[in-house]
Amino acid sequence: MITENTPITFSDKLPQDVDVAIIGGGVIGIFTALFINRQGFKTIVLEKGRIAGEQSSRNWGWIRQQGRDEAEIPIMQHASRLWEEIDKELKGKCGFQRAGLMYIASSEEKLQQRQQWLSTAKSYGIDSLELDRQQLAKTLNQNQSQLYHQWLGAVCTPSDARAEPWQAVPEVAKLCHQEGVKIIENCAVRECQTSNGKLTALHTEKGLLKTSQAVLAGGAWSALFLKHHHIHIPQLSVRASVAQTTPLPELWQGNTADEKIGFRRRLDGGYSLALPDFIELFLGNNTLKNARTWLPVGKKYWNDLKFRMPVPSDYPDSSTAHQNWQADQQSPFEKMRVLNPTPPQKAIEMMQQRFGERFPIMKEVPILNSWAGMIDAMPDLVPIVDYVPQIKGLILATGMSGHGFGIAPAFGKIITELLQEKPPSYNINRFRFNRFNDGSKLILGPGI
Ligand SMILES: Cc1cc2nc3c(=O)[nH]c(=O)nc-3n(C[C@H](O)[C@H](O)[C@H](O)COP(=O)(O)OP(=O)(O)OC[C@H]3O[C@@H](n4cnc5c(N)ncnc54)[C@H](O)[C@@H]3O)c2cc1C
Repeated sequence: MITENTPITFSDKLPQDVDVAIIGGGVIGIFTALFINRQGFKTIVLEKGRIAGEQSSRNWGWIRQQGRDEAEIPIMQHASRLWEEIDKELKGKCGFQRAGLMYIASSEEKLQQRQQWLSTAKSYGIDSLELDRQQLAKTLNQNQSQLYHQWLGAVCTPSDARAEPWQAVPEVAKLCHQEGVKIIENCAVRECQTSNGKLTALHTEKGLLKTSQAVLAGGAWSALFLKHHHIHIPQLSVRASVAQTTPLPELWQGNTADEKIGFRRRLDGGYSLALPDFIELFLGNNTLKNARTWLPVGKKYWNDLKFRMPVPSDYPDSSTAHQNWQADQQSPFEKMRVLNPTPPQKAIEMMQQRFGERFPIMKEVPILNSWAGMIDAMPDLVPIVDYVPQIKGLILATGMSGHGFGIAPAFGKIITELLQEKPPSYNINRFRFNRFNDGSKLILGPGI
């Protein structure tokens, strides 16, 4: 796991000026840097902690089309092709495999919900299909009797994919660096400097950097950064935990989830396990302030949400982080170099137990490692990718809502177009900055 004890890999000197500065070295920031640099823009990535230290190395590694919001589907189809290309360029170092994905259902109601995806998939030419109990048993290398009492069937997308996030994002960062992108770790951006509403520079902890264009790809920290400029977005983050098993017998190579357990085969022969019904929300300032906007999501996920108090010190929504700071003072971004939440032991034990119960062939489910990440989300469960109206020259790409790893390369391309002031190749109206206060109705995306 990447933490603040991980040695620094990138320590370029802060230049006086750049064409484009990227705030945040997660998967969104890194892919944007790769593509904008390839257009001949002098580019820098400024990362407060370590490249991919937060969500971008901690996720499940699913690269999925299935179950996406319709506005994301064509972008995701492009992203999937881009992942394949980059992985080839990096000689397989991203661990990309088009190994498939399936959502399994244990009840008629859930199966019907999953089946709804099939007509959407068809209209976008995606190869999703339904598996009955027998086909599911065959796919999972199980004899049918073991599965008989558990599952009714599944909806599967063979062309969906997976990668190893903790390898993939740092490798793409190295590629950026080789191609001339400057990258500085342990370099928080404290605030934007503006003149007449236009971006002129960024105040970083290592000094002033002149630039007229920046991309805020700060994950769970974006709302706090904007709040410092009196700009509000209703972003929240939730804790999600993951466990890594030792190498175990192969079920199949793809990504899988039923209502209570998610599992993905890893390159090392183990599994990454997670609980789809265990989402932890710390009740902080932002939670209360945004409660009304978040009500529809709250209702939908009520049974899966676990409320926690207080917000741990120095987390983005903690009272310590919300204190104000000046450009020449330490900011909350430096106090917490890498947001590294502790996974609750109870959650890890539940993963072990549920996986073992479903697949007795595992006999035991030894856990090698476990971790958690703070998933940043928007109240309609789709991101914001847009210019920030209050600061000309600043683009916001955040709130990826639990599915930003897979789609990142194509959003990197779209942000590159916005930076060049070209019309984006896809319709990104759904991801507009102002949608929470322009009077439009909140349309809930399919999920995290
Ligand atoms: C447990 C878990 C499972 C997930 N599973 C999947 C999955 O299977 N598939 C999928 O597609 N997605 C998944 N996701 C979601 C996915 O990981 C995120 O959507 C994606 O990584 C977000 O990338 P990002 O670059 O926006 O943010 P992050 O990866 O969080 O990166 C933001 C970076 O910005 C830096 N930063 C913030 N503020 C500043 C500042 N002021 N100055 C400098 N640096 C700053 C931070 O230190 C951080 O490194 C999962 C997430 C989690 C936590």
